[in-house]
Amino acid sequence: MFQNTRYILRLTLLILLTALFSTAVIVAQDDSEEEEEGDHAIHWSYAGEEGPDHWGAMTPDFTQCLEGTAQSPIDVTGAVALNLTDIGFDYMDTALHIFNNGHTIQVNADEGSAITYNEITYNLLQFHFHHPSEHTVNGEAAPMEIHFVHQDPNSGNLAVVGVMLTESDADNEAYAAIFDHLPAEISEATASDLVISLDALLPEDRTYFTYQGSLTTPPCSEIVRWLLLENPVELSAEQIAAFGEIFEANARPVQPLNNRDLFIDSNE
Ligand SMILES: [Zn+2]
Repeated sequence: MFQNTRYILRLTLLILLTALFSTAVIVAQDDSEEEEEGDHAIHWSYAGEEGPDHWGAMTPDFTQCLEGTAQSPIDVTGAVALNLTDIGFDYMDTALHIFNNGHTIQVNADEGSAITYNEITYNLLQFHFHHPSEHTVNGEAAPMEIHFVHQDPNSGNLAVVGVMLTESDADNEAYAAIFDHLPAEISEATASDLVISLDALLPEDRTYFTYQGSLTTPPCSEIVRWLLLENPVELSAEQIAAFGEIFEANARPVQPLNNRDLFIDSNE
């Protein structure tokens, strides 16, 4: 009888620990803004054995990377023109909480910035960079792409605004504070006295392409409304090179569109 009780106690403890662990994993996943892996024990990268071709087989959590049919990025080509609703940008200034998460340089936004799209408000969580661009246009990649990651607090779904960053002669002053403070080593988001204007990071013309897709990093969840601005923002060759020295290549290859809609705002 006594042994039996101990057995039950042990079993209960085991079940409790399992539940606790699962909750921790779920919380970590919920917390995952685009670039954080749900399980930090799983190491993934952009090349070799841990590269994009292998993500889907690394853990059951990442199977969408392999088996998903609405994955991102894509090659943007043959978009159907449609009179789309505008993206309502409501961007504030933010302190520069910049860090290197091992996969990209990310800036966490202060609370208060958001976009409204099809009557849903998505709060801006963070933005980060890819080098070269992840999306291609008619098969062509840009030197870099920036992703502004927003979340609908009710559904948890994401809306990501992507902007191509192309090369010009002059430094882009709106991006200067970011590119002057790129952390070369893995780091934590820290408090900062530097303030940047989020709105100034966008091009003036906000015509966009849109399609339904996924995170471009594990676990590749298919929860993203992609809003890709047609017009790029220009950076200097030096600014692009500064990022390239830290992340030579952090872009997932393009994925098949399959039977998804790809629209461009016809601006009517
Ligand atoms: Zn991204």
